[in-house]
Amino acid sequence: MKKILITGGAGFIGSHLCTRLVNDGNYVICLDNFFTGSRKNLSHLLDNPNFELVFHDVINPFTRDVDEIYNLACPASPVHYQYNAIKTVKTSVMGAINMLDLAVKCNAKIMQASTSEVYGDPVVHPQDESYWGNVNPIGIRSCYDEGKRCAETLFMDYHRQNNVRIKIIRIFNTFGPNMSRHDGRVISNFIVQALEKKDITIFGDGLQTRSFQYIDDLIEAMVRMMDTDDSVTGPINVGNPGEYTIIELASKIIELTGSSSKLIFNPLPMDDPKQRQPDIGEAKRVLDWKPTVDLKSGLINTIEYFKNSES
Ligand code: NAD
Ligand code: UDP
Repeated sequence: MKKILITGGAGFIGSHLCTRLVNDGNYVICLDNFFTGSRKNLSHLLDNPNFELVFHDVINPFTRDVDEIYNLACPASPVHYQYNAIKTVKTSVMGAINMLDLAVKCNAKIMQASTSEVYGDPVVHPQDESYWGNVNPIGIRSCYDEGKRCAETLFMDYHRQNNVRIKIIRIFNTFGPNMSRHDGRVISNFIVQALEKKDITIFGDGLQTRSFQYIDDLIEAMVRMMDTDDSVTGPINVGNPGEYTIIELASKIIELTGSSSKLIFNPLPMDDPKQRQPDIGEAKRVLDWKPTVDLKSGLINTIEYFKNSES
């Protein structure tokens, strides 16, 4: 039985990963400071003898003998990562250092949940892993983008200097059950607004694009990535190449919820990327993986989740 540490395990992605890895027969330790995560996401695991929930902030060191580490701790929604931008940088950078130091101590394999935000507002489209990105180092998204870029740097340097077995995945916009109603990202906002028959808040003209991946596809890719040969470090893009404008997304959600909500147009936040689409050639080749859930099916499951979740 492997002992696996998951930081940020009480959040949206982390809670699905905890469930998958416990179900696969592992002993899972979840570290979280509950900034955006919640015990509710893990309620089904709390009595499981192969699961442990530890209240811990990753800006502080943590010691435990483990075989694998998935480093997910970091607020991911712009509203939350901008709430305390300095803390976001500390979480990404000091969190990475603390987890990499732990990996050195116990010779654990370690995965970093990096992001498509390392490409910033990309001028290359679609984005493949060789693209260095177009990131504003001093804007309101920089605490997240640059924190995540620095974490990638640290992972590569611990690999080169200390032979740590690392895996970096660059996750593109992902959605599904266990997102918080107050998360602030576009799919949860639109679904909650549509179900409550409130106005749908489009930022800017709504012609900016994103490529949306369903959570189950991401979790499968994460597990496959951790199981790759030690020579595979990444970074590898993990996302669904289906690309939609924000207006198209709003229309789909209105249609699937049968809502009478209207679109309203609010100002576009600073540095909001205009387009984003993953090139997933590497993931297909190295992980023998491709997404299997299309936007419509994923939205139907997520709408069902929000219908049944408390407001
Ligand atoms: P989330 O906000 O739901 O989860 C983040 C978790 O980290 C929460 O449980 C939160 O409480 C915890 N956390 C935050 N700061 C912490 C700290 N200092 N110490 C301990 N725990 C802390 O977000 P998510 O969507 O589940 O994202 C998880 C990871 O995946 C993040 O690292 C994020 O950057 C990355 N990611 C997500 C997406 C996406 O579309 N969801 C895309 C790219 C990358
Ligand atoms: N967005 C929007 N309305 C909202 C929330 C977000 O139009 O209520 C837009 C946002 O400006 C961005 C896109 O949707 O262009 C995706 O935003 P999200 O915060 O989900 O992810 P990110 O910008 O980090 O890719």
